Amino acid sequence: MSEELATSMRTGLCGRLGLDDVGRRVRLCGWVARRREHGEHLAFVDLRDYSGVVQCVVDRAVEVRGEDVVAVEGIVRRRPEGTANPRLATGEVEIAECRIERLAAAQTPPLSPEDRVEPDEALRMRYRYLDLRRPRLQRNLRLRAQVSSALRSAIERHGFCEVETPLLWAPTPEGAREFAVPSRLHHGSFYVLPQSPQLAKQLLMVAGFDRYYQIARCLRDEDPRADRQYEFTQFDLEASFVSQEDVMAIVGDVVRAAAQAVLGEPPGPIETMTYDEAMSRFGTDKPDLRFGMELVDLGPALTGTGLRALAAPQRRAITVPGGGQTSRSRLDGLVDRARQLGAPGLAWFRVQAGETGPILESPLAGHLSDQERAALLAATGAEPGDLVLAVAGEEWRSVCTVLGALRVDLGGQEPGPRPSRFVWVVDFPMFKGLDETGRPVPAHHPFTMPHPEDLDRLATDPLSVRAQAYDLVLNGWELGSGSVRIHRPDVQRSVFAALGISEAEARGRFGFLLDALAYGAPPHAGFAFGLDRLVAIFCGEENIREVIAFPKTQSGADLMTGAPKPLSDAALAELGLAPPAR
Ligand code: ASP
Repeated sequence: MSEELATSMRTGLCGRLGLDDVGRRVRLCGWVARRREHGEHLAFVDLRDYSGVVQCVVDRAVEVRGEDVVAVEGIVRRRPEGTANPRLATGEVEIAECRIERLAAAQTPPLSPEDRVEPDEALRMRYRYLDLRRPRLQRNLRLRAQVSSALRSAIERHGFCEVETPLLWAPTPEGAREFAVPSRLHHGSFYVLPQSPQLAKQLLMVAGFDRYYQIARCLRDEDPRADRQYEFTQFDLEASFVSQEDVMAIVGDVVRAAAQAVLGEPPGPIETMTYDEAMSRFGTDKPDLRFGMELVDLGPALTGTGLRALAAPQRRAITVPGGGQTSRSRLDGLVDRARQLGAPGLAWFRVQAGETGPILESPLAGHLSDQERAALLAATGAEPGDLVLAVAGEEWRSVCTVLGALRVDLGGQEPGPRPSRFVWVVDFPMFKGLDETGRPVPAHHPFTMPHPEDLDRLATDPLSVRAQAYDLVLNGWELGSGSVRIHRPDVQRSVFAALGISEAEARGRFGFLLDALAYGAPPHAGFAFGLDRLVAIFCGEENIREVIAFPKTQSGADLMTGAPKPLSDAALAELGLAPPAR
């Protein structure tokens, strides 16, 4: 018997009723999910609240329609022999002798609040409150709440203290375009909505909080897509007197606690690999470890080859198991895809069973010697029935990247459930490369501490400098990233200098941080991961929009409220803004 959430209006929840309740008089409140006429006198009304649905037997004369809000009072009884519905949690009982009171009438809804048909996208967004009535979205948002709550408990067990940081803030350089908010009192000046609480949390370390966390809303003015919304939520943390390994252990623990809370069992231990290893084995710094197809180096196998397509210094391959029957047109498509990804071309070899051993079927195979063909098979481990795809080029990273993308295109499609795989990627390069003016481009925010062994090469050989930065990757998604921070003003200045940020510019933009570092900053490090992504993965959703209550569309619009909307000329004037030219 369930009296869960009983109030002065109801005795409990619809979806919790069962045989234990038979004979009980109940009063339930909810929405009319469906009405079916039954004979001359009766009708069945399925009553729904968030917990589920229960069938009520009512007088046909009762006037209620789909999505009306009603209160039903009646007696729980076992359904007549042969009419139980095993697909419904309450399917063995129904409410009889019902009195129905309509609490609110509903118009015919523009979309069905059932999961059976996926409503039109624009309708879903326009009537999001109806869309959210669907069981799938109810489940997703509740699971999200469970994840947040598990994360909070786990991080608090590690002594972290929740602190809220401002939304009206100043620019911080984390690489994304920022949203600006005009100031009414200071015309021409703007607040910036934070891309993350990065600098605020570092200041909290200077302030001596030791361990901070926040379920923080972050805002970035970047085109929305499946894994990105303008506003998103990060589980954000920072700690003092910790190493990279300490932070990774804490984050691993809280993420596993969340997985345990919602999936019932924690994932296995999280393995760690360096950036170089991730790139060479998987062709990406976000490796999806749920399937094999690792990249192999064909360098030694094809030294001095006469095959021009594979003669460049860097050459690598992947093997697609069972890909040996891939059609020519599909292969042409893969060659095009490789070119789009920046490769000069793509060599393919269908491996077939020959009389004396496997043979390579490819227009290029004739340009390889017998020895090279054997070496290629040995290096890739390909068997008859497989497909080998090889890319050559001047540069290690780009060759790996092309194959990494093909690996995901081809291996990511394997059917069937695959257990989630977390992995830490560490030892990132400090800089992504050089810009047109020869300046190094930072791979992370500029508060990231270089590897201590590489510090002295910051000015002389920046591209060889590793960062004390670490990413947590789940199933090929970058879930989050973090780093050991610079806590010494002299190091911070030399990193700004390496990035071409002048003293004056650094003072203008981050003077407050440099000041703070001068007043005794503890060594500190932190991390942040995307809560939306984590929840989407736990829910089996491709798009983070399915785990956000009120998301924006791909064009950044809110179809329900109509935002963004023009402001009146008077409101613009108050903000010191000129009306747009009409
Ligand atoms: N602030 C960083 C980010 O938003 C995370 C971190 O370094 O803690 O990606």
